[in-house]
Amino acid sequence: MSINANNPSLKSWVNVPEDSGFPIQNLPFGIFRTSYLEPGAGIAIGEYILDLTYLHENGFFSELKLPRGVFNQKYLNDFIALGREKTGKVRNRIAELLWEENAELRDNKPARELALIPMAEAEMLMPVSVPNYTDFYSSIEHATNVGTMFRDPENALLPNWRHLPVGYHGRASSIVPSGVAIHRPKGQTKPPEADQPVFGPTKRLDFELEMAFITGKESRLGNPVSTQEADEYIFGFVIFNDWSARDIQVWEYVPLGPFLAKNFASSISPWIVTLDALEPCRVEGPEQEPGVLPYLRYEGKKNFDIELEVAVRPEGSQETRVCQTNFRYMYWNVNQQLAHHTVNGCNIRVGDMYASGTISGKDPSSYGSMLEIAWKGTKPVRMSDGSERVFIEDGDEVIMRGYAGRDGVRIGFGEVRTKVLPAK
Ligand code: MN
Repeated sequence: MSINANNPSLKSWVNVPEDSGFPIQNLPFGIFRTSYLEPGAGIAIGEYILDLTYLHENGFFSELKLPRGVFNQKYLNDFIALGREKTGKVRNRIAELLWEENAELRDNKPARELALIPMAEAEMLMPVSVPNYTDFYSSIEHATNVGTMFRDPENALLPNWRHLPVGYHGRASSIVPSGVAIHRPKGQTKPPEADQPVFGPTKRLDFELEMAFITGKESRLGNPVSTQEADEYIFGFVIFNDWSARDIQVWEYVPLGPFLAKNFASSISPWIVTLDALEPCRVEGPEQEPGVLPYLRYEGKKNFDIELEVAVRPEGSQETRVCQTNFRYMYWNVNQQLAHHTVNGCNIRVGDMYASGTISGKDPSSYGSMLEIAWKGTKPVRMSDGSERVFIEDGDEVIMRGYAGRDGVRIGFGEVRTKVLPAK
């Protein structure tokens, strides 16, 4: 199928501001509601949401033979389960409807006014119901930084790291969309000078800048998905903030890995940018040395050129950017992650979320967590209001943004913005 929507010369009759991440070449899917509309599916175009339920009910998708009610739902799971080919056709059809030279919707004033909803009037909700969440650890810079801080600078990477994409099973129930505030978690920690653990609010609340992919196709138990087949299974991506409580983490994680330090919340950007929209943004990944086992080998460009940034906004103040990095440097790519995840026969489900692991670059300004930016609390970061941060304080808002840029077209993810409230 040719992806007409990706044509960089296409323009829409909907006004798209120059710096918008939502031009006609993007068309990400999400779930929204307004004061007058129940939750349902929409796509982002400029500063508007196109109501897919309305378009479907009024025959604009009639040639695609979509199931009745597929958009009129709280989650996109049934829609993305139609498969990449079908969802790609829907995206192409939407691009056709929004194209400046197509009069179908453009000149149908009543339909246009009902189908286009200003983003300012809408609330974005969780785009999918997430059956399973997995978190990888695929940035070599992040793994090296953490290994250097907590173990041994000479042997920062553990012996397995270059042979397999390390991961763990996270908690799906506490994934929330941008705009949902979280409370500082409480838990057990053991301060270095104490000989007994203590209980209380975490003193080391941190973010982790990650990208996550969402699967749109099930696999059967016992059947691995190869690196080549993986593209068929991936519907799209969101920005993912894997909140972490570092003091809880260091005390609890031996020997089975993260638990309460991670499962209290993860925050995502609400628009799913499709793999189709990201096709023009593919780049080569870093060379893998030593070579990997045959089931992890892959062909083609499997990394993505996505600019990312993190800002912290103290309550009542301006935001300060604390990180600027790019998704393209990930050592393990998503095809390898999915192939490794399923090589033992583990089955995957529609709506599953797979986060990349903290995305850090080589330079300190590109580190993707406060743990690394402030180097374990030793290098405070100055905020625009003059205060300093080594971790995240109550009242702070953490904002992550991202976009891929190609041929003068900006494929944006929007943002994930989360306020931290005091412990309950
Ligand atoms: Mn993580």
